[in-house]
Amino acid sequence: MQTSIFLTARLLRKAHSRARPNILRALPCVFLLGLLDTSFAYDAARHPVYTNQAVIAFRGCGYTLPASAAAALAAGTQDEDTAPLNLYDRSTNWHFYNREGRLRPWAFGNRSLDRIFAKRSQALEIALRGESNINDVYHRAGQVLHYIQDMSVPAHVAPAFHMKLPLWDRSDPFDNFTAPVDSAPFALTSKQCSELSDQITTDPVTATRLLANAAKRTLSAISPSVLEGQTSDTDWRAYWIYPSDNHADAANGWGAYGLCVFARRPQRSGCKTPRQEEALFALQYQRTVTDSIRILIYLDKRRAKRPTTAFPPQQSLAGQH
Ligand SMILES: [Zn+2]
Repeated sequence: MQTSIFLTARLLRKAHSRARPNILRALPCVFLLGLLDTSFAYDAARHPVYTNQAVIAFRGCGYTLPASAAAALAAGTQDEDTAPLNLYDRSTNWHFYNREGRLRPWAFGNRSLDRIFAKRSQALEIALRGESNINDVYHRAGQVLHYIQDMSVPAHVAPAFHMKLPLWDRSDPFDNFTAPVDSAPFALTSKQCSELSDQITTDPVTATRLLANAAKRTLSAISPSVLEGQTSDTDWRAYWIYPSDNHADAANGWGAYGLCVFARRPQRSGCKTPRQEEALFALQYQRTVTDSIRILIYLDKRRAKRPTTAFPPQQSLAGQH
């Protein structure tokens, strides 16, 4: 196995020897390495942290949630990246937004989140309608929430290819960015609590809508505004490009990273200042936690609406066929 991993790593290095790599060349290698190495993992630690912050704010709005369900939700957001049982799904489904529907499936799996998000959403719906215990429902909800949270990361929606493997680190700097230590903790006013509650219905497509809205919001946050020819707060083309300037990647729906690195350090002219980077990160962080609260409110309303004795859940599901 070690030899195979070494050879795969050599192939990856060869495929990425140019300054602007063609993603297509690396795909089979990435897939093989993903299956060969059981430590295959992405940076997943942020998901449960953000989810726990959302739970605190959710409870601050007056809602109640058992500690075990909150823990299951947070675990679900992390398990989607790291649980051994998810290894196959993770290797064959990447978490990129299908920006114009051109990230099509390839021989070994899906380059966008489309199929896995639909699968996880369906599993959540079945759990909500069935007799699953509350921890199972919230764990499945965490798996769905993972993708909604991903949509606040610009590289996931650009989409700019990135991946972190033991022998091949192309991790995303936004994922590793940390908020300034003097950042205010996330909190909602009672008015904001009411507004969020008013927005959320029990419509089963709520999670799908939240994901699409989150992706569009991120794109608008990094896309050039109407100030043509001027640098605006929403012009982040030096960081994330779409379409990719590699023609083969562009034809397959990919964007790319620009010349600036989102790393809060002095850079070449044309890059943003550290303060501007911090402002974008703070905005996206707030959106991630707020979307997580929206899911919590949605789950609360779905559970409240669920019939307890009207008819058995099994019959309810059978009626869908
Ligand atoms: Zn992800």
